[in-house]
Amino acid sequence: MSYAYDTNNIFAKILRGEIPCNKVLETEHSLAFHDVRPQAPHHILVIPKGPYVTFDHFALEASDAERADYVAAIGQVCKDLGVQPGEGGNGYRVISNAGNDGVQEVPHLHVHIMAGRMLGRMLE
Ligand code: IMP
Repeated sequence: MSYAYDTNNIFAKILRGEIPCNKVLETEHSLAFHDVRPQAPHHILVIPKGPYVTFDHFALEASDAERADYVAAIGQVCKDLGVQPGEGGNGYRVISNAGNDGVQEVPHLHVHIMAGRMLGRMLE
């Protein structure tokens, strides 16, 4: 299986500095910024800097350092937002859409961190 990465996608342009983003965190291998169309009071996107299309692509082909950095960046954003339920926050949701059935709009891996309101049940 090979993954075709489109270098013209909008998150690649953000990473190259060709278009701006509202950055909240940058690490060696990851970048987090506000979603332009927020669906919750807190809506942050976290992306790896490497050219990965989907979560499975990243999980299977990224280096250990990239994976560790990305997971830590997601946790750090949750901590910075103050939404960790075990730490007095009210919780959050992390989702990653992949491909057609996942309704992925931007073909560069991103997780959405959403918080700040009751998000409702996704699964019954
Ligand atoms: P998905 O690919 O369906 O998971 O969603 C892509 C997300 O990227 C959407 O929530 C968009 O609002 C968001 N988005 C698209 N372009 C930009 C941008 O330039 N900056 C920040 N967020 C963006």
